[in-house]
Amino acid sequence: MSTSTPVSSELVTPPPPLPPAVNINALDRLLSPLTTEQLLRQVILDAFPGRVVVTTSFGAESAVLLDLIAGIDPATPVVFLDTGYLFAQTLTYRDSLVRHLGLTDVRTVAPAPDDLAREDPQGDLHKHDPNRCCRLRKEIPLENALAGFDVWISGRKRFHGGDRGALPRIEVDGRYLKINPLAEWSEAAIARAFAEASLPPHPLVEHGFSSIGCFPCTVPSGNGGYSRAGRWPGSDKIECGIHTTKTTQNPS
Ligand code: SF4
Repeated sequence: MSTSTPVSSELVTPPPPLPPAVNINALDRLLSPLTTEQLLRQVILDAFPGRVVVTTSFGAESAVLLDLIAGIDPATPVVFLDTGYLFAQTLTYRDSLVRHLGLTDVRTVAPAPDDLAREDPQGDLHKHDPNRCCRLRKEIPLENALAGFDVWISGRKRFHGGDRGALPRIEVDGRYLKINPLAEWSEAAIARAFAEASLPPHPLVEHGFSSIGCFPCTVPSGNGGYSRAGRWPGSDKIECGIHTTKTTQNPS
């Protein structure tokens, strides 16, 4: 089931502290020999049951991680940020992929209407302050949506380049233990997973989009080269901030 929830700029639920027993180095050693599927199974079912959330953009590569999640527990909470500026094809793809995979807890999260009315009444904030626009439309809604969880699974990969080139499989992000199960996957491995599982592609991929975000800030990136080259074209911005602005307080 997919639900849509606008959220306020204030945290709805104060986040609880991470369990003090989590030792990132010990956990890394424990999980490092595991395959991607084994890692996800261990995290979702065994180590942190009921405390794990997945974020996805329903973009060009999202189906691979979501397919793995669905095979382990289709009721795993999945958070999707609808900024109000997504391509119609992304929303259609979300609905068809959710049905195809049988995911039952996809939470579509929207920015707070009051925040947009106050800070972006003309809807052009992305043109003169994209960082603030991403803050309002992505970071704040995400912080609220993640507040009830301890472990955050993301679909980023090293081959995306930039800061992602050194992405670990396991890291601490603010108060969250963050798992990047596909960090080591190559572009070819993603393509193989699509083929082997007969996963439907995002409809914009065939039009040259290799990374798909909001329509005012995304252009086709063409074939080859930096896979996120089509994001924020003509600007030095390369990340929206949800993975670079550490969330709330650090665990002790
Ligand atoms: S990607 Fe562009 S339109 Fe989307 S939230 Fe960021 S600045 Fe705004």
